[in-house]
Amino acid sequence: MTESNAIAAFLKYAGIKKMDIKAALVDCDGVLYDSMKNHSRAWVKLMSKNGIKCTRDEFYAYEGMVGTEILKMKFRTGAGKVLTDDEARDLYGVKGRYFRELGEVPMMPGTLEALKVLKQEGLKCILVTGSQQQSMLDRIAADYDSIFDEARVTGFDVRHGKPHPEPYLKGAIAAGVAPNQCIVLENAPLGVQSGHTAGCFTIGLTTGPMSAKDLYKSGADIVYESPAALAQALPALLQAIKES
Ligand code: MG
Repeated sequence: MTESNAIAAFLKYAGIKKMDIKAALVDCDGVLYDSMKNHSRAWVKLMSKNGIKCTRDEFYAYEGMVGTEILKMKFRTGAGKVLTDDEARDLYGVKGRYFRELGEVPMMPGTLEALKVLKQEGLKCILVTGSQQQSMLDRIAADYDSIFDEARVTGFDVRHGKPHPEPYLKGAIAAGVAPNQCIVLENAPLGVQSGHTAGCFTIGLTTGPMSAKDLYKSGADIVYESPAALAQALPALLQAIKES
């Protein structure tokens, strides 16, 4: 997909004549941090302790869902057990502990550079994540120094996790603009679906085992192989958007 084809397709999808991008809505795991490896390890550990079969890769496919919903689904399908909200919350706490025990996750290479380009263009940057990992959420302000607005949407703020459009719709509201004035940065198929159905121009980043094809199938407008590749392509993409 070329930049100009992606823009033409988005204009048609959004039913607008011109794009006027004012904000970037940015996912956390797999975009700001290279954290998905540790998340999937923590999930596998929790599942095996509870006798539930799983693979490490499947958790990349669930990425974006609220954690307690992943637990309810896996216990239902893998053990025939219906978890109460309290049980799911407690188990999610254990999963969070396993995640923290694996150590601090690194920043995703190239993302800060890409966000600086967006910031220079005057875009607001809003965090939109299903994550409830307080330890990671607390790091963002320091790691991504002054990039992000105070307003943010996390797993604590939404009723419906991704792939529901609610997280990105709330992100647009936090930015004070229409969804079609937002760029979404996402690495996960369910997150891409959330951004796309919210009506945002959704950029997919293949930072894990999910392929560009997986992200296009979920509704990505354009896919880059890494945040570094996005940082390089952004000036041309933003110029093409202005000329749209
Ligand atoms: Mg993600």
